Order: sequence, then structure tokens, then C-alpha cells
Amino acid sequence: MQAFHIHITGLVQGVGFRPWVHKLASNFSLDGYVNNGLDGVHIYCSGNKDDVTEFYQSLILHPPVQALITAHQIMPYPSSLGKGFYIQKSDRNNTVQLLITPDITLCEDCRREIKTVGNKRYHYPFTTCVNCGPRYSITNNFPYDRENTTMHHIEQCPSCKKEYEDLHDIRYHSQTNSCSDCCIEMHLYQKEGIEIKYNQVEYIAHVITLLREGKIIAVKGIGGYLLLCDAANETTIKKLRERKFRPSKPFAVLYADIEMVCADLALSPLELTALKDRSAPIVLCSLKSYPENGICINHIAPNLNSIGAMLPSSALLQLIADNFGKPLIATSANISGSPIIYKDNDAVQWLSSIADFILTYDREIVAPQDDSVLQISNRGQKIILRRSRGLAPNYHPNTIPILPSHTLAMGAELKSAFAISKDQMLFISQFLGDQESVESQDSYDASLKHVSDLLGFIPKQILIDIHPRYFVSEKGLELSMKNNIPICSIQHHEAHFAAVLSENKLMDLKEPVLGIIWDGAGYGSDGKIWGGEVFIFDQGEIKRAAHLKYFPQLMGDKMSKEPRLSALSILQNFPLAQNLIQKHFTEQEWTYYQQLSRQPNLVFTSSMGRLIDAVACILGLMPVCSYEGESAMLLEALAKKCKNRSYDYYHLPLNEGEFDWAVLINELIHDWFQKEANEVIAWKFFYSLAKAIARTSNHFFIDKIAFSGGVFQNALLVDLIIEILQHKRELYFHVQLSPNDECISLGQMAWFSKFGDPNFK
Ligand SMILES: [Zn+2]
Ligand SMILES: [Zn+2]
Repeated sequence: MQAFHIHITGLVQGVGFRPWVHKLASNFSLDGYVNNGLDGVHIYCSGNKDDVTEFYQSLILHPPVQALITAHQIMPYPSSLGKGFYIQKSDRNNTVQLLITPDITLCEDCRREIKTVGNKRYHYPFTTCVNCGPRYSITNNFPYDRENTTMHHIEQCPSCKKEYEDLHDIRYHSQTNSCSDCCIEMHLYQKEGIEIKYNQVEYIAHVITLLREGKIIAVKGIGGYLLLCDAANETTIKKLRERKFRPSKPFAVLYADIEMVCADLALSPLELTALKDRSAPIVLCSLKSYPENGICINHIAPNLNSIGAMLPSSALLQLIADNFGKPLIATSANISGSPIIYKDNDAVQWLSSIADFILTYDREIVAPQDDSVLQISNRGQKIILRRSRGLAPNYHPNTIPILPSHTLAMGAELKSAFAISKDQMLFISQFLGDQESVESQDSYDASLKHVSDLLGFIPKQILIDIHPRYFVSEKGLELSMKNNIPICSIQHHEAHFAAVLSENKLMDLKEPVLGIIWDGAGYGSDGKIWGGEVFIFDQGEIKRAAHLKYFPQLMGDKMSKEPRLSALSILQNFPLAQNLIQKHFTEQEWTYYQQLSRQPNLVFTSSMGRLIDAVACILGLMPVCSYEGESAMLLEALAKKCKNRSYDYYHLPLNEGEFDWAVLINELIHDWFQKEANEVIAWKFFYSLAKAIARTSNHFFIDKIAFSGGVFQNALLVDLIIEILQHKRELYFHVQLSPNDECISLGQMAWFSKFGDPNFK
């Protein structure tokens, strides 16, 4: 008999690791104990040396499904251990060296239980087990034990306690365990915060009645409140749009199960897998020609040909979706421009202007998160559009070879997310929204504080964008001055490029890589607004190799909200074509903007996003956007309608490092005057961009091409690039992160690890 100490770190708490160890140790008849520490899981075991070795190997090779081991070691243990094996109380010594377990959607076992008449958890809305349930959103502290979660106040009933202590139960040591006898209590409020009391078992039935009557209900989800209403009730959806001041931005739809999804949407196998993922994201999928559930497509996603579908992420949502029996609109509950509401008091106070009723319960959320959103292109490329619930906050496997120690990267402004490095582990926060509103800024602060507290993280250096007016950069500066720590600023598009390079493990490559970095706007190192950039990464350096020819940026950030301004700027030297867009302005506006565009001292931009906006406006789509990215989405949807796809394209010549968009626009307008169909022009436009990328890689003789920036959220463009180049070039897209600005904090970290100022300590 010999004794050993095994130490395992990574994603090993809140994933049923200790119960798993206990079962395995029993199989090998080992004695000893397992416990959680702040630095991972510790196992002390004694037995026959061969048995211990085999136990160790099977634990490392086959950990619980939700776990991820980043490091492990075994060493002899000098003391003797008593008979039997048990789970010991957690240890609070050491510093935190753990990944944070994300929230895990309702598992199949639990789903079956809540649907089985006679089961103890039949219709119990907070059913979870060791393999599923909220984690990050309810964790106050490490180690992951019930007293460190927001379920600390709920005492388990004798029957739950028995499950908790039974080695063979799926709730053995499940920290989120509860049932209808020791339940998390629900509450229902109507307007003015008046509570309507029911028996706990009656709430869901009442909510279903209200939904059938066309009411809008705010329901507390895993990461925050969601607004639910009947997806087939046009009047209600219109009411929701009015109350939310959201005229056309698409709503996600909650389906009870895959069969219900398939009645409306044409799913590919990859989309099916994505929908069923443990993160339960919203997946954008194409509509069938004749959707069968009677949903109001034109009011859910106006002028688009796809819908964001999702399956229930909690037992509560599952029960509501099942009992309602039809698709439901499910959208983040927030006041326009502010982050998702997650505190009960805020919900009662603020949501009664939007929702008719509010359904809440007594389990606090400490880490607010929206639902994650992704899409799969026709050619199978996964594109993350929003990384949040179920996917954040870890980034693993960490692909930066030498991670700068104790570093905080502040990220970008419009789609903010911060990154933290600690002990070779990298944490990238959930999507934290547009930092324009005070509420979003507060939410960013609160999330940064929460994750820092959880990890015991104190920054030793700070990375920011070079943009002089980013709120997050100002905050970084403040932190750096307050704590007297160094700060480094990094150009936006270089950070994008570094992000996609590091995601694909290309940072140490000897061969050159071409970076196509196209987005809306980022501050350039020449003081202009960049966004249509081509970089070359070679010999350990990033160089700007080409860009879209500059054109005037009119009215600053207003231009991104009004594609008509992009069109006006782009069409300055096309007087005939200006007639096409004049109708989108009042006479007064027209005169004013015409004068403005001829002023000296204009700010110039090379933004691909604005060129796309201009084309959308020329084709008569959305002169003024009601939500970010609307015109690009509509142009993509229009192009996808094109049945008559030829291989004609518009030229976008590269002259002395500048893409001359005027040639492209000239040919495009010619088509328009020739009365070519709009969808054909839209398709040709995206095809032309893909062709231009192919020619650029020829021009520079570079085989490896990496793509980043919000423009590559466009699945059609991504597919066209793959179609043209997949057998000729090596293509690299983002893997775990979004191509939009949510990847900037990783990019800042990766850039700094490679190119950080040597004098920067
Ligand atoms: Zn479960
Ligand atoms: Zn119970």
C-alpha cells in the first residue's frame, strides 16, 4: 500500500468532478479523500501502486463530460490515509487557479424527469443535476460549494439531502440541488409592482394563460430577464416593438424542442448540433418556404430570411415552452441601449413599462449574460455573433504561447469584452454591450470586479485601444494611474489580426500570413478612421499592406447609423447617381450635407463597413438604420435571394496600396442604370469582394489568409471566400470568438505577448 497526492487544475469545479473521482476510486478500491481547493481539485489516495496508476490515468483520460483539465500531477504522499473513500470539506488555502465553469443548459436526464408524471421533479422549474444548471451566473466565490453560490439560503429537504449523499445518484454532491419540497420560490408581479400570489405549482399554468391572452411576460432566465410572448400573435409582437422602441431588430424565438424547430426552419446537421449544444445558444437558421407553426415572420425578423432559434436553457423555460405548445418570442429584457436586466428589484421597477407581468424567483443572478448567438454558413463555417451565456468567461484552450502575466486587456467600445490573464489561464468576459450608456459602463465595471474578485486578480499591466475617446480606454488609464501600473495602447485592426492569428496558433509561424481585417471603424495610427485593411504578418512583424481608398467620414459616428451618409460620401464624384439617393434626404438636409462633404479638414475613413452601407443605400435599403448592422444584414439577405448567380464581378483594383472603390461603384451603378435586379447587384457586390481578396493574395504571393472584423459576420461573404479559395489557399477564421469587436481584448493580449514594448515592464 502506497499513498499519493493528485492535483488537478482547469475547469474542474461545478462539473461533478468530486463525485466522479469518488466513483472511480471506489471502482479501484482505493482509500482516501477528494476535496476542492482554490487551486483546483486535490485527491489523496492509497492502494496498490498499479491500481493508483490506472485510476490516475483513467481520470485524466476520461474526466466528466463538462470538465477540462489544464494541468495535473501525481506525487507520493508521506502520511497514511484511513479506510474508505469520501469527499472532504473544501479547502480555502492557496490562491485561485481555476477556470470558471460556465452555465450549463438543462441536460437530457433532467429534461426527462420534469416531463415524467410521478417523478419527484415532475414540473419542478429549478431541476438541475451534477451535469447541468447555472454555475457562473450564481457563483459568488470559490471553491464551488453551495454556500458560495446564491443558493446558500436554501436548505435541502431530507429527500434531496439523501440524493446529495448517495454516491450513485446524479445529484450526488450537486450544489444546485432542490425540489418542490425545498423549492426556490417564484413570484409574479403585475404593473406597479403589485404581487399576485399563487400556490407555487400554479404559477406556470397562470403564465401560460396570460401568454395565450397575448400578454408580454418578463421571465427570469439564467443570465437575466427575458421578454416572452406568443410568436404567432401579430398584435402582441407589434406592442412589444412599440414598448421596447425596437422597430425592426429581429427577435429570437424559443422552441420547446427540435421537432417544433424543424416545422419552421430548414436545419443543417451542424445547425442541429449547435442548437442542442450545452450552451443553448441562439442559432440563426433559414426559414422553410412554408413554416408550419404560424409564427409572424415579417414582424419577428422584418425583411430577413432567417430566424434566431433557441431551445430552453433552464427547466423553467422548458416547462413554459412545453405547456404553451407553440413558439415564443424570447428577447433580452432591457431598456433600449442598456444591458440585460438581472436584478429582481430592477425588473419590477423598470420592466413594467414593457412587460404586462414579471415572473421572478428567489435565486439571485450575480453575473448577467445575454444569450449567445451564432450562425453556421452554408459551407459549414461557424460564426459566433455574440459570446455570452454558456460560452463565457473562459477562453480555452488558451492559444497564446507565452501569456503576459496578470494583464488586463480592456477591449473595444461598441462590442465590449475584457480579457484577464492569470497563471497561464485566460479569461475573456461575456459580451458587455455598447459602452455608450452609463448602465453599460456600470455593467462592465461590475463584471470586471466580479471576475477579478472570483480569481483574486490584481492587474500588473493594462492594455487599451489607441482610440482617444473609448470609455473603456479611459477607464484603463484611470486604473493605471490609480494603481501606478504601466499601460500600453494597441491599434484596433492590429489587435483584430493578432486575435485571429492567435486563435489559429499562427503567432509563431515563420511564413507570412495575409490579414484581411474589415469592419466598421477603428482608430488608425495615422489619425484616420480605418476599417478596410490588409496586413501582412511576417518575420515577427505586422505591417499595413493595403487599405480601402480613403473617403470622407461625415458626421462622425452618426455615419454608421445612417447608410445614406455613406452613400452620399461615396457618390460625391458620381453626380448622375446622386439622384438615386437624394430621395432619402429632405431638401434642407441635402443642401447641408452637400456643403459638409466639400469642407476642408474632413476626417477620412477606409471603412469597408461604410462602403457596404453605401451600396445598401444605393439599392434602396434602409437609408437610416434602426439597429447596428441592419443595412449589412439586409444587403446580405437580399444577395441570398439571387437565383441567377453568374460569375461576373465588379473590379476593385489595388493601386499602390489602395483599393479603388470608385471603379467598383462605377460598374455597380452601370448595372443599376441597366435595370439589373437588385438581388443580382447585391450578390455580385459580395462576390466582387471575395474576388478582390483572392487577387490580393496573388498580388502579395501569400498562401495563408486570416480574416477578422465585423464584416466577416456575413455568412454569404464567408462562403464565397471559401468557394473561391478553399483549394488554393489556407483560410483562417475565428474559432472560439466572434470576428466582431468582442475579439479585441484577446487580440490586445496576443499582440502584447508578441510585440509588447521591450521597455514596458
Ligand atoms: Zn441535469
Ligand atoms: Zn428537496
